[in-house]
Amino acid sequence: MGAIDRRYQDERYKNWLSCVNGLRALRCLLRTFLEDQTQRFHRILVDRISTKSCVNNCEISKNVKPNELPSVCELCSKWSRELLANHKAQGSPIHWSNCNPQRWPEEKWEAAKVYMPGGHKTHVKFDDFDMAALINLMSRCTHFHRLIKASGLQKLIESVTEVRNKVMHSPDFTMSAGDLKKHLEKIKRLGRVLEPHAPEMKSLSEEIDKGTGEQSLEEFKEMELLMMEEKIGFISVSFSDMPGTHSEERSQQLIVLVDSLWSFMEQHQDLQQALSIQMTQLISLKEHKEQLMEALAKVQENQKRLNQNIKKIHQYKRTILDYQKLLEKKQEELGQRNTFAIRLAIVSILLGLIAFMLCFLAMFYY
Ligand SMILES: [Zn+2]
Repeated sequence: MGAIDRRYQDERYKNWLSCVNGLRALRCLLRTFLEDQTQRFHRILVDRISTKSCVNNCEISKNVKPNELPSVCELCSKWSRELLANHKAQGSPIHWSNCNPQRWPEEKWEAAKVYMPGGHKTHVKFDDFDMAALINLMSRCTHFHRLIKASGLQKLIESVTEVRNKVMHSPDFTMSAGDLKKHLEKIKRLGRVLEPHAPEMKSLSEEIDKGTGEQSLEEFKEMELLMMEEKIGFISVSFSDMPGTHSEERSQQLIVLVDSLWSFMEQHQDLQQALSIQMTQLISLKEHKEQLMEALAKVQENQKRLNQNIKKIHQYKRTILDYQKLLEKKQEELGQRNTFAIRLAIVSILLGLIAFMLCFLAMFYY
């Protein structure tokens, strides 16, 4: 039995593919709705701020802190303040480094990127954004909440985000039938809530079910390639930030993602050949992963040194405290000795005085 046949008969692998297909169907059907609404939101911002473009070539540093407004000219500051005012998650990290502020007055997606996770600096159109980016836009931009007004929208969006994370982070590309059913239901529920504003969502259930029913080998192959493209695209976006900008936990997750995909591809030569373009991308991701591992090793080495230094400081502190206690004890002993000497001196003087008086009295009488 060939590798393709084994995958075709692996129900848990097919479940995983069906779930990726569900997310992909949602993303495809969101296109018109998000293109239109992002355009409307942008027009509102332009009317409120200005149609003028920045003449100061403002740029946002990669190191700008997510909870601070970027340092830009007066016009770009107006934009950043307005974008922030429409951000639902006040106080949570905002990925300003996604944006090129000079393009805020002209490009709707440039403004929309404020509401997306990091890693979208070079992305400029709908096709560049993965499911997480689009879902975050709807979740964080208050324009969508004003428009949809469905109770529980936020929770629903979060549940689909969770599905997407579970599916994309699955290390062995498998899923149980029970999980598949639960996950697809969450995606369909979001589709139903969006339907009054996005009529395209009417066909979401049908599109999702196409990926779960009986498939011929040819249909399976076609779907598998699309889903693998989706997976590689997801990892690629996750790596868009340079090494060193990820947290240790995130870096470890990315390393696991690349390793699991690489080892899967090594076992399935037919997929490697069919996805030759994506394999080039995967090879570059593997190199990127090596850089990330180096950066991570440096961070861990620095952390180790820092811990050793903290330990030494604690040891010094303990020694100083012990020494201080010893000094206090000595001082106390010394103090007691001094007191004893003074008392002895006073007693001696008094005895001397009495002796002198006795002598004086004796002289007086005799
Ligand atoms: Zn500017």
